[in-house]
Amino acid sequence: MTTTFDVINPATEQVVETVRPTSAEETDEAIARAHAALPAWRAVPPGERAGLLRAFGDAVRADREHLAALEVANSGHTIGNARWEAGNVADVLHYYAAAPERLFGRQIPVPGGVDITFAEPLGVVGVIVPWNFPMPIAGWGFAPALAAGNTVLLKPAELTPLTALRLAELARDAGLPGDVFQVLPGKGSVVGQRFVANPAVRKIVFTGSTEVGRQIMAGCAPQVKRVTLELGGKNANIVFADADLERAAASAPYGVFDNAGQDCCARSRILVQRSVFDRFLELLEPAVRGVVVGDPADERTEMGPLISAAHRASVAAYVPDDAPVAFRGSTPSGPGFWFPPTVLLPASAADRTVVEEIFGPVVTVQAFEDEADAVRMANDTDYGLSGSIWTRDVGRALRVARAVEAGNLSVNSHSSVRYWTPFGGVKQSGLGRELGPDALAAFTETKNVFLATED
Ligand code: NAD
Repeated sequence: MTTTFDVINPATEQVVETVRPTSAEETDEAIARAHAALPAWRAVPPGERAGLLRAFGDAVRADREHLAALEVANSGHTIGNARWEAGNVADVLHYYAAAPERLFGRQIPVPGGVDITFAEPLGVVGVIVPWNFPMPIAGWGFAPALAAGNTVLLKPAELTPLTALRLAELARDAGLPGDVFQVLPGKGSVVGQRFVANPAVRKIVFTGSTEVGRQIMAGCAPQVKRVTLELGGKNANIVFADADLERAAASAPYGVFDNAGQDCCARSRILVQRSVFDRFLELLEPAVRGVVVGDPADERTEMGPLISAAHRASVAAYVPDDAPVAFRGSTPSGPGFWFPPTVLLPASAADRTVVEEIFGPVVTVQAFEDEADAVRMANDTDYGLSGSIWTRDVGRALRVARAVEAGNLSVNSHSSVRYWTPFGGVKQSGLGRELGPDALAAFTETKNVFLATED
């Protein structure tokens, strides 16, 4: 028998809603329906499919305030972030709505005939989403997948199903056939496992921990099932002595404490050139103490709570009583899974706070000597997702950006995600790219057709 699970507001610890998880049998039935829906979805003329995606995007935009309020209640995201997240789903749908009419093949010169290629859809795509950014991460999977002619099953994280369920309603209201886009709340070990094991699912898009990503990749291997993996990160924020130190220090807290640090792109290792190390810390302290932590529904709030009591305990374990704390921000008292912005000065590069993804508002600050040392320290990790470089020297900015092993670097900024540009990791941060023009290639296979023209 399937028991229900409670969705908890992490800022109040109150139950928001009760959700019934999808069983393994129901998942297989949904996969069968998605498979049956493929021929009709593929046959929708490109202009009409584009129109349906635009209508879906418009419905999301019209529902933005409602979706944002749901995310504030379910995930404790600040209202400003939650509005951006809902808007991002609408933007991504509109961006990929341009794709069905532009899924060009090629005509390749060959002897004896004509050779053409087609960008064929893969079939049923399973999208598995973590709890930290429930809306955008779902949209980065389902929008290009649908645009390319695939049908989609979306599994939200156990803790954060509410906005995904609402997106399914909006898709239906916009006219998408119900079996083309289905949302299946439930456990990773049940629903996610069926996506991996059921041969009718031809591709998995997984965002989550590196540990589960490895299991999914191994689970897909026997069927040579396609996978895109977006996994963890331990990203460096490199501050050179020639940087605008005031700007670098003022922005550093937002590069790591945004979404309470529950961000795979969080710049959780600040590396500062030794000659300006003390000055940088002096500037960083007021910036960290100034982060407004509190009720996520309040427009002025900059950081909300962590997602759950269990996750708070996991983050707190990185900051024991004798931890080398330089300074900390504040938290509200009362209920809620709060944890203050925390700056650590680790004694060694081997410290677990430097090596492991904490996924909370905890940042380490370390000194480096010169450019080569900065690059070596930035790359001294199994991960490779994002990072920032602060310098006024354009040549150095480009040299270091090329040398740091990560999928997404930003110079004098902490921006990682722009829906026009490819996003993804190297090393153990993932496999494949989402967003931008690259994502469509991840949801199509090239078919080559040769037509003989000689008698
Ligand atoms: P998680 O790996 O525990 O879970 C992610 C999703 O996978 C959930 O929906 C879960 O139900 C499902 N799942 C769990 N076990 C499964 C299994 N055996 N088979 C199939 N599905 C399974 O991760 P989380 O704790 O929800 O999210 C935090 C992690 O996600 C962090 O490591 C973070 O860095 C990573 N993340 C990466 C990116 C990126 O783009 N690289 C973005 C956001 C989060």
